[in-house]
Amino acid sequence: MRSFRKDWPGFRGRPGHGFGPETSVNGLFNVGDSVNPPTFYGVSGAAESARDVARKIVSSSS
Ligand SMILES: Cc1cc2nc3c(=O)[nH]c(=O)nc-3n(C[C@H](O)[C@H](O)[C@H](O)COP(=O)(O)OP(=O)(O)OC[C@H]3O[C@@H](n4cnc5c(N)ncnc54)[C@H](O)[C@@H]3O)c2cc1C
Repeated sequence: MRSFRKDWPGFRGRPGHGFGPETSVNGLFNVGDSVNPPTFYGVSGAAESARDVARKIVSSSS
């Protein structure tokens, strides 16, 4: 069982207030917590950010 003290660690990434997926390294993208698309947060936000990047990679390779 885990325990958390001091600041609550969950939901640090506010929807629409984190990083974008782009990085300075060609072909490397940020996904997950803190890359939440607007209106998504938590696990679903992390998954949607990965889905967005996957779509971007697939569309750029076709
Ligand atoms: C207590 C708590 C309760 C939560 N409850 C909910 C909930 O009910 N519903 C909900 O939607 N969200 C909830 N969340 C938020 C949710 O857990 C996160 O938004 C989600 O897990 C983010 O997914 P992620 O893959 O971006 O990051 P993470 O799940 O944090 O995964 C990151 C992974 O990277 C690994 N890692 C870190 N550094 C390195 C390194 N240098 N090299 C290799 N690996 C590394 C870590 O070990 C970890 O496995 C909760 C969070 C907490 C803390």
